[in-house]
Amino acid sequence: ISRELIKFRDLPAITSKGRRIKVFANIGSEKEAEIAINMGAEGIGLFRTEFIFLDRNDPPSEEEQFRIYKRVAEIFKDKPVIIRTLDIGGDKEIPYLKLEKEKNPFLGVRGLRLCLLERELFKVQLRAILRASVFGNIWIMYPMVAIKEEVEEANKILEEVKQEFENEGKTFVRNIKVGIMVEIPSIALSLEEVIDIIDFVSIGSNDLIQYTFAADRTNEKLRYLYIPNHRAVVSLIKNVVDVCHKFGKEVGVCGEIAGDEEYVPLLVDLGVDELSMAPSKIPVIKKKIIEL
Ligand code: PEP
Ligand code: MG
Repeated sequence: ISRELIKFRDLPAITSKGRRIKVFANIGSEKEAEIAINMGAEGIGLFRTEFIFLDRNDPPSEEEQFRIYKRVAEIFKDKPVIIRTLDIGGDKEIPYLKLEKEKNPFLGVRGLRLCLLERELFKVQLRAILRASVFGNIWIMYPMVAIKEEVEEANKILEEVKQEFENEGKTFVRNIKVGIMVEIPSIALSLEEVIDIIDFVSIGSNDLIQYTFAADRTNEKLRYLYIPNHRAVVSLIKNVVDVCHKFGKEVGVCGEIAGDEEYVPLLVDLGVDELSMAPSKIPVIKKKIIEL
């Protein structure tokens, strides 16, 4: 990070029109949480918890997950830490889970879909998150939501875990915030249906773009179909922002475009409240917003 950029690190990102944009970080480990806070992150907008599950031979225990979430919450104190529940499947494979091979993994059992089928895996994670919730400002976020019913089902499981905790006399934040990622066109276009049972939204533009153009995000030959400012994508994002604001909910973006100087002006223009990006991008994006 250059000396020129360092001064932007600790500044609030306020546009010339006086709009404050929250600048958050995407992380995949506690180590990255430390880097993020040092780069000026005002919160964690996306903790990709599946990284805790990679490169090992068995799933991390409740205790192991709890320690990691607690540590990240403590580093960020009262700043929000949005923990995304497991987003396995698609291109993220985990051999020891012995998941069925699928013809179309990106259209298959991934993200929240998998958690609703593998409930014990999901509950262990929710337990770890709830236990950690008293150590900071943790929010829960479900990935790969296609329809409202999936959110209702996930919330039912979360409620079960809360009940169990109450019976066991464990302390946790009962009204912990719960949000969803909008990364599938169906939910982007029907957000009104689900908005009253969630607290916030974060747009996963990487997947939202892939599913809008039906173009595998890992296929180099289809790179030309990654068009963040195409009117189809802009129209989806605009609808999501407008619905969120109509119902008084905050909306962020946590896909790669949130940390891309080329697209940040568009996202700010569309009205997003928060941008979450790789920690190294924070100073340059704050600078960009301040100069808007
Ligand atoms: C996204 O899809 O934009 C996103 C942030 O999630 P991931 O890249 O982990 O799929
Ligand atoms: Mg995604």
